[in-house]
Amino acid sequence: MSAQDTVSFGFETVTPDEKVDRVKGVFRSVASKYDVMNDFMSVGIHRLWKHDTMTRLNPQPGEAHLDVAGGTGELARSFLRRADAAGQRRGDTRKATAIVCDINDAMLEAGKARPDTAEWGERLNWVCADGTALPYPDRSFDALTISFGIRNFADRVAGLREFKRVLKPGGRLAVLEFTEMTAPLLQKAYDTYSFNVIPKVGEIVTGDRDSYQYLVESIRQFPDQETFKAEVEGTGFSNVTVTNFSGGIAALHFGWAI
Ligand code: SAM
Repeated sequence: MSAQDTVSFGFETVTPDEKVDRVKGVFRSVASKYDVMNDFMSVGIHRLWKHDTMTRLNPQPGEAHLDVAGGTGELARSFLRRADAAGQRRGDTRKATAIVCDINDAMLEAGKARPDTAEWGERLNWVCADGTALPYPDRSFDALTISFGIRNFADRVAGLREFKRVLKPGGRLAVLEFTEMTAPLLQKAYDTYSFNVIPKVGEIVTGDRDSYQYLVESIRQFPDQETFKAEVEGTGFSNVTVTNFSGGIAALHFGWAI
């Protein structure tokens, strides 16, 4: 098997098809406890990162939003809330719409069952699909987000190309992902925490240690901020910027489809 035929699944090397299957297994297993575990693992800080991501995205009335690897739909609901608030401020009654697209139906079902989902009715849709083969025509969306999803892709660049294809000219891309801390000493402390604590907490809360072991390993396998920025630029996005959150534990890559 040549190197091009393989990808990383955490610290293991597997075929792209095997990665897709095993990633599905991970998120099927954690789906019902996913939101609770997110708060546990990040002490709620992931909410601040998502809040800042949405501020940067600046949702507008009437816009179409696609949240790829959207899981339980947190960013999509936030997009709709922000777009409505912007509309109210300006007396613009156009309604934004959002689609949560995820490869895993268990994550989508957990999102649909949330109490804060029903209020959005037909403005919020849920679609089971692979982010590297999106079931939408070219130039369909004004804004596309992906948070903590792209490191799970078997082919990141194929995903970024799809994002560019489905965004309208002038559309915004926001990729939020765990990255590399800017201070090496802090990175060491963070690694100690993530490798020793997260799989154990995952086991206690969800009964599944292996899935959380994969999650921490996959974070370490993700490229650093500058390398990923070059990938985003390489797929045709313009004015790509990087914003580090919490010393680089996570970073927002923001770009324009022009
Ligand atoms: N975006 C959500 C959030 O920030 O809470 C969920 C993030 S969760 C860590 C990663 C999600 O990526 C899972 O719901 C998983 O099913 C989804 N995923 C993984 N590979 C995918 C792919 N190739 N296409 C679409 N979704 C994928």
